[in-house]
Amino acid sequence: MRPKTIAIANQKGGVGKTTTAINLGAALAMRGFRTLLIDLDPQGNASTGMGVARDIRRRSTYDLLLGEESAADIALSTDVDNLRIIPATMDLSSADSELMASSRRVIHLRNALRLRETPFDYILIDCPPSLNLLTINAFVAAHSILVPLQAEFFALEGLSQLLLTVREVRSTANSDLRLEGIVLTMFDKRNNLCQQVEDDARENLGDLVFDTKIPRNVRLSEAPSYAMPVLNYDPTSRGAIAYRSLATELLQRNRSEAPADV
Ligand code: ADP
Ligand code: MG
Repeated sequence: MRPKTIAIANQKGGVGKTTTAINLGAALAMRGFRTLLIDLDPQGNASTGMGVARDIRRRSTYDLLLGEESAADIALSTDVDNLRIIPATMDLSSADSELMASSRRVIHLRNALRLRETPFDYILIDCPPSLNLLTINAFVAAHSILVPLQAEFFALEGLSQLLLTVREVRSTANSDLRLEGIVLTMFDKRNNLCQQVEDDARENLGDLVFDTKIPRNVRLSEAPSYAMPVLNYDPTSRGAIAYRSLATELLQRNRSEAPADV
């Protein structure tokens, strides 16, 4: 099942999708896995956070979706060995309506990723904060979905809508789609509400919730302005330690069992 393709999704903005895509990607790459990060959000935060300046984003996710080139042709290398990225540009915001005009509208990304054998072990897709056609393309192209869940009030309500969409995609275009898991982000153990959300999540979703929690850590929010993953910016920070641990857990799960069902 190479490359293993994981969509990082939650229709809520600001929950840690991009931070997870960059740092999980870096952690996998640092273990020697050839990793591709696809920036599927027109805001391009993953691209900026990885140091891909706007003027060198000549080819982008837009071309991957609507052009003829393969992922390996478009991907740029980064300062992290084994980690490449397909950046996003603003024209991705019009891709949604352009895809709508296509009869194959939900399978563009999947087709692009299968165009040729890709030289990657993992592909991580950083989804936009919406369940739009871009996100659906990611769900159709992916083996699994990783959901960052910010430990705050109403977090679980948004999740049920996301799971409905997963079921819909499963019953139409991608019957093998699995949930990789749910990772609690911006966790503050002194905050009772965080603890309550964790308890609720573990009670309702069981093993789907990763043991690893990503703490609220200022180094994680500083790293993008230095155009690098926190694993490079401050490798001993709590944020870096947490994302390395998330990668370990993900690799263990992938070795020992099939990703869980919804
Ligand atoms: P999304 O992609 O879901 O919109 P981001 O990953 O961009 O979310 O995170 C939103 C903001 O929160 C960003 O400014 C990011 O740097 C910050 N952030 C994300 N995770 C953490 C964390 N664990 N601790 C502190 N700040 C974080
Ligand atoms: Mg984002």
